[in-house]
Amino acid sequence: MKKRILLLAGGQSGEHEVSLMSARSVLAALPRDQFDVTPVVISKQGRWLPPTGTQRALESGEAPTGGDLVLHRVASAEGYDAVFPLLHGPMGEDGTIQGLLTLAGIPFVGSGVLGSAVSMDKVMTKQVLASAGVPQVEWRLALRREWRDQPAAVEARAAELGFPLFVKPANLGSSVGISKVSRAQYLAPALDLAFSLDRRVILEAMTSHKPREVEVGILGNDAPVASPVGELSFDAEFYDYETKYTEGRAEMHIPARLPREVAEQVRETALRAFRALDCAGLARVDFFYVEETGELYLNEVNTMPGFTTTSMYPKLFEAAGISYSELVTRLVTLALEER
Ligand code: ADP
Ligand code: MG
Ligand code: MG
Repeated sequence: MKKRILLLAGGQSGEHEVSLMSARSVLAALPRDQFDVTPVVISKQGRWLPPTGTQRALESGEAPTGGDLVLHRVASAEGYDAVFPLLHGPMGEDGTIQGLLTLAGIPFVGSGVLGSAVSMDKVMTKQVLASAGVPQVEWRLALRREWRDQPAAVEARAAELGFPLFVKPANLGSSVGISKVSRAQYLAPALDLAFSLDRRVILEAMTSHKPREVEVGILGNDAPVASPVGELSFDAEFYDYETKYTEGRAEMHIPARLPREVAEQVRETALRAFRALDCAGLARVDFFYVEETGELYLNEVNTMPGFTTTSMYPKLFEAAGISYSELVTRLVTLALEER
């Protein structure tokens, strides 16, 4: 019997378009002799589109409006063997949709409520990983209300870290709302921007030198495996939105040109983080490697990484001998596996 799969794409976050691109790749790659796949696109307003709207959105690459309230449509997910929530960022990768699917009793690809929610929030991730002994840069949390009522206290926290530092909304991705602050006078606009996007903001010390950015893929549930390590190189102050999504701005190197023991440390640390955060199915774990000093810091864990055929995560597993189509098949199988 073919497995019936519901593929969710689009969604409300700034990564709506990225998700639709990934969905086209996954749709084309899930073997039709094993799977019967139905896509449903979620509009930017968070509503589920009917088949015609979904088809149109997949072709045009975006769905700004339209669709039905999720709560009216989620019952239609009944009868599917598994859901592939190919959604990035808030309301997709953060445990919300995972909670809905858990309540509905439908297995799904990727991490559950806990792993998704904790990994999405950069502060919670840091706290959990600190207790697992994972090396990370120094950081401080600030709340919107504190910035409004006691700005001096927030500024003092930033001063403890020194400049340059990074200011980031705690629950976003794709570098949206992130600033590199080189001097105290640029701190306030960076905080205003980050707080316009999130109640929780993380201040992070910058690595001692511009870091090399290395990434590793994890695949599995309770017995996860790590891919080879990859590296992204680019010519910009940091890996900002424009550099991420402008064709030709960043270059992928697989395997990363790293000393063997550093690559091993990356893989081992990523597996430790995956377990500590209670992730499942897949994750791309991103690190900073400071070549000058040999320091290695875990930066973040992405529980639903970019998934086009040219994205880092599938490329990392391709380098390990697992084709794109084998990879998506394996992910659905992992979703159906008893845990
Ligand atoms: P996102 O989840 O939006 O990808 P990241 O935390 O990965 O956010 O930050 C985006 C980019 O900003 C990183 O890829 C890196 O280029 C730069 N960056 C972020 N934090 C630091 C830091 N502490 N030190 C140096 N560079 C950083
Ligand atoms: Mg991220
Ligand atoms: Mg990142």
